[in-house]
Amino acid sequence: MIERTLILLKPDTVQRGICGEIISRLERAGLKIVGMRMVWADRDFAKQHYAEHLEKPFYKGLEDMIVMGPVIAMVLEGVEAIELVRKMCGATEPKSANPGTIRGDYAQVSYGHADKRGIGIKNIVHASANKKDAQIEVGLWFTPEQLHTYKTVHEVHVFE
Ligand code: GDP
Ligand code: MG
Repeated sequence: MIERTLILLKPDTVQRGICGEIISRLERAGLKIVGMRMVWADRDFAKQHYAEHLEKPFYKGLEDMIVMGPVIAMVLEGVEAIELVRKMCGATEPKSANPGTIRGDYAQVSYGHADKRGIGIKNIVHASANKKDAQIEVGLWFTPEQLHTYKTVHEVHVFE
């Protein structure tokens, strides 16, 4: 039941200087940071990360967006963390994302707006979608040595 998932604070989040606020929300839920790096992805790496979207009409704008600056990549660990983190992020389209979610609270763009301009949707975060993606994405962004095992105080409440 304890899972690890990849989350990226996208370049828009780093450039807006709101990484701390987003990280705080994730930490507050009891999620454990087991890996963290600042990475400026190049176009080849972007294609590996977003392989499933290469043929989509919005791919060019998506790639431009993810390489426009550095991201903060994190691996978070917790109880069914993959689904939990996706829920906290909210819907892909900020216009549709519920208030209280990260995308709903910190972004505003719609698919219509972004597609009309040919730009990627700046929606604050990426989070692995399922177990298979989480395994692939954690391995793509982190080596085993960059991931750490330690105890948090939350674990007393999770396990006892
Ligand atoms: P996610 O898993 O919620 O991030 O969504 P997807 O995997 O479907 O898409 C990856 C990223 O591509 C999203 O986070 C958006 O930044 C962008 N994106 C997805 N769908 C669209 C779209 O229809 N138009 C545009 N312009 N960008 C999109
Ligand atoms: Mg996705």
